[in-house]
Amino acid sequence: MSEKFDVIVIGGGPGGYVAAIRAAQLGLKTACIDAFTGKDGKAAPGGTCLNVGCIPSKALLDSSKHFHHLNHDYKAHGISVENAAIDVPAMIARKDGVVKKLTGGVSQLLKGNKVAFYHGKGKLGAGRKVTVTPLDGGDDVTLSADNVILASGSVPIQIPNIEFDGEHIVDNVGALDFDHVPETLGVIGAGVIGLELGSVWSRLGAKVTMLEALPDFLAMADIDVAKQAAREFKKQKLDIRLGAMVQSAAVKGGKVNVTVEIKGKESEMTFDRLLVSVGRKPYTDGLLEEDSGVSLTGRGQIDVDDHCRTSAPGVWAIGDCVRGPMLAHKASEEGVAVAELIAGKHAHIHFDTVPWVVYTDPEIAWVGKTEQQLKEEGIEYKTGSFPLAANGRALAGGQGTGLVKMLADAETDQILGVHIFGANASELVSECVVAMEFQGCSEDLARIIHAHPTLSEAIHEAALHLDGRAIHRGN
Ligand code: FAD
Ligand code: AMP
Repeated sequence: MSEKFDVIVIGGGPGGYVAAIRAAQLGLKTACIDAFTGKDGKAAPGGTCLNVGCIPSKALLDSSKHFHHLNHDYKAHGISVENAAIDVPAMIARKDGVVKKLTGGVSQLLKGNKVAFYHGKGKLGAGRKVTVTPLDGGDDVTLSADNVILASGSVPIQIPNIEFDGEHIVDNVGALDFDHVPETLGVIGAGVIGLELGSVWSRLGAKVTMLEALPDFLAMADIDVAKQAAREFKKQKLDIRLGAMVQSAAVKGGKVNVTVEIKGKESEMTFDRLLVSVGRKPYTDGLLEEDSGVSLTGRGQIDVDDHCRTSAPGVWAIGDCVRGPMLAHKASEEGVAVAELIAGKHAHIHFDTVPWVVYTDPEIAWVGKTEQQLKEEGIEYKTGSFPLAANGRALAGGQGTGLVKMLADAETDQILGVHIFGANASELVSECVVAMEFQGCSEDLARIIHAHPTLSEAIHEAALHLDGRAIHRGN
């Protein structure tokens, strides 16, 4: 006899565990199945995000930032420290502690909300029958439900001719766990993950070379932000080579030899470690029985409509395994929306206002369209900007690098995009997300009182500049 649930969620990442908690809050009998196993061999719900993604990368970014400031920036504050050293195993242990605390917190939240949790691999069959293969021993368990939410996440893309060995050639998992600072680190792909993990090891002293296939740096960001960021990262000694298509890599004598074609010319490079961060792909291995009725797209994503419904009745899919940006907050919001739809409520996700963040130093964050996109789409726009070098709080904190750039409809003044390169951009962008969600205009932000001195005044000034009335810069 199989146990019957209202909702079964397969996958316990920020998509799955959030969907399970929201479904349980709405009074639905809910189960969540997750296969992630922590370093201690126990269940570690939280998915890629908590275990090997958003959180551990930020823990290491923060540790390495402290070290970098100590060596490079504190002198200007009159603080001198001699012989500053980094204890990599201690830094990794702190990161692991943060991860453990958060995955333990998710277990408690699931329990507190009376979600039945299974540490195992779930497989969906016809009629929403789900087989769980437990990872802590025991026989398979069969469950069924009126609704099943698939939230199986994503895995790194592998380049043909480059095998991960977990030590010299690694993905995000390996790069979050080096036991020492490599003297040289090659990073294939100067996208979000490559930039973040490249920054960590560069700040700790590794000579980092980033090999990016595209001719433009951070092509998905606004052009002015990408230009300033490229200049700043060069100053920080990140060696970013554009138009560099990596062909193959092999480990020899403890080093990694990489063959790369740069602007049509083939050359060899040698690194102590190589991080492959060329993007992620949806993960559906072992998730679906042949008769599940769930279709995949040509790109391997689970095919869903605007409300995350798959081709099988009562089966939904959310997060990295479906279309849309591979971001934790997008996965979570889809999870909440689907749980509410199942419970008979209305729910909608605004993909136009999903914020993006790259946690470099300074951070890059944006919401809405870039100037390039507006041009391509033939939308008439106005632009305003403000340099952080003219913001008092930024200068007081030694954070005068960067800018805020705002784009608004030329006729209606509705905000179409805001792009920030600067300290705390990840937090500053929220104000702009709110403004855009409320279909606000640049005039709204221009008239809102911003506390002084704060970095948020740069957003205020960019909005004023859009109308030619910035106070602290020429118009
Ligand atoms: P996942 O988090 O991948 O979770 C899926 C879970 O399902 C996993 O635990 C997996 O084991 C489990 N699973 C899969 N198949 C089965 C099965 N058949 N049975 C049972 N369990 C199964 N995003 C941000 O928004 N901000 C960031 O700062 C950020 N930083 C990142 C840094 C790195 C290094 C990486 C790699 C990613 C980062 N991301 C970030 C992306 C973010 O991690 C993902 O977008 C997010 O985790 C997607 O959530 P998800 O729930 O869809 O999938
Ligand atoms: P992201 O999807 O943000 O993690 O970025 C991945 C980056 O890797 C993109 O900018 C791609 O252009 C880049 N990329 C993909 N394949 C290769 C390759 N073979 N060599 C170098 N860069 C690559």
